[in-house]
Amino acid sequence: MKILIAGGGIGGLACAALLKQRGFSPLLIEQAPEFKTIGYAIGLWEGGQNVLEQLGVLEKFVEKSHPVPRGGVADAHGNSIFDINFAEILIGHRVSANIRRSDLHALLLEAAEGVDMRLGITIKDILQNKDSVTVELNDGSRDTFDLLIAADGMHSRIREKVFGPRTLEYYGWAVYVAWIDGRNAAHPDIFPDKSQYYLRRDQGVLMIPLGDNTYVAGFLVRRKAGLSEQPGARLVHIKTLFKGFCPVVEEAIMCIDESKGIFLDDLCHVKIREWYRGRVVLLGDSRHGVPPHTGLGASLALQDALVLAEELAKHTPILETFARYAARRTPNVHYIQFVSKIFFHLIFIHGRILTFLREVILPHIPKKLFLRFLIKKLVEMPV
Ligand SMILES: Cc1cc2nc3c(=O)[nH]c(=O)nc-3n(C[C@H](O)[C@H](O)[C@H](O)COP(=O)(O)OP(=O)(O)OC[C@H]3O[C@@H](n4cnc5c(N)ncnc54)[C@H](O)[C@@H]3O)c2cc1C
Repeated sequence: MKILIAGGGIGGLACAALLKQRGFSPLLIEQAPEFKTIGYAIGLWEGGQNVLEQLGVLEKFVEKSHPVPRGGVADAHGNSIFDINFAEILIGHRVSANIRRSDLHALLLEAAEGVDMRLGITIKDILQNKDSVTVELNDGSRDTFDLLIAADGMHSRIREKVFGPRTLEYYGWAVYVAWIDGRNAAHPDIFPDKSQYYLRRDQGVLMIPLGDNTYVAGFLVRRKAGLSEQPGARLVHIKTLFKGFCPVVEEAIMCIDESKGIFLDDLCHVKIREWYRGRVVLLGDSRHGVPPHTGLGASLALQDALVLAEELAKHTPILETFARYAARRTPNVHYIQFVSKIFFHLIFIHGRILTFLREVILPHIPKKLFLRFLIKKLVEMPV
């Protein structure tokens, strides 16, 4: 079977490696001319870690990652509103662990060694018939495959070509993401040892620890989608917009490592019902991208890759294979989208009254009950 995978990110690489394990020889194309040390932090839940185990790289993941057994929400003054000890609830399960995206990417590249990969290549055109898909590439070549796996991320151009435009729904919020080098802090010990949100009206800050006093921070702000901003202006904007937060956030802003770049993106999610059309099948963020506030996208992409590889290995007619893939993935994906929305309504609050209510109501939520239901199901994430 001739398989083309478009996108050499988390889902595409995992899928290539899992297909190779099952005797396939996929071709993977990636738009970037080289695999640079791209990205920030990825938190992987047990469901995602299980896929790494199947790829034989779990031990290395454990070495390189930083387990995060706790999470919390605090107000802008740093007063705790809600604290969660995942480890208490997740007895018998692995807790979520944070890793640099570049490290995770390197592990997946290692797992996919031997796969034919072409960098700097994108798809210009797609033509389908009942039995095959023909693609025209940006290098002028043209080739025909049995199927095309679109693992080209949240802003998938393949999804747009095959399923049409307007498949993204914007939230009216944006996130700046920056590296925090806590070793340069005047008081490094004030930084949290857990994933921690600090929230105030129309703004939030998320600190994600990576060990060694290094953090990735997300600065969330209400902002109309589509506004552009020069990279050189971002630090100044963060300093202005997030002034007056508690000392931890102020210290974090002081320790932003600007040399590593500050990422800025409008928050959105993918809204589409289908998983495939003809011979083109979606995988990972291209099908169900959600904003990074829940830290779930990579685990889902890894699981998609495993399920699709397992179903392809059964060698049944392709549309049956795709239908089974979609049926196995839909419940999990719907659940994550539901969780993501709950977090959205908790974090992305607009207005004084709702902000006040959040701070009053949140501490009284029956935490254990709520989390047993919510988090346990997240961790189990069946495939
Ligand atoms: C700031 C930030 C923080 C995040 N934090 C977390 C977290 O803590 N936990 C978590 O689980 N998830 C997190 N995510 C989400 C996570 O990164 C994604 O869910 C995950 O990478 C999805 O994998 P993917 O393979 O679908 O897409 P990606 O990993 O985005 O890969 C897509 C690949 O396709 C390539 N590509 C794009 N277009 C084309 C084309 N036309 N042709 C060929 N190649 C193409 C891209 O260059 C890229 O390499 C975060 C995302 C962001 C932006």
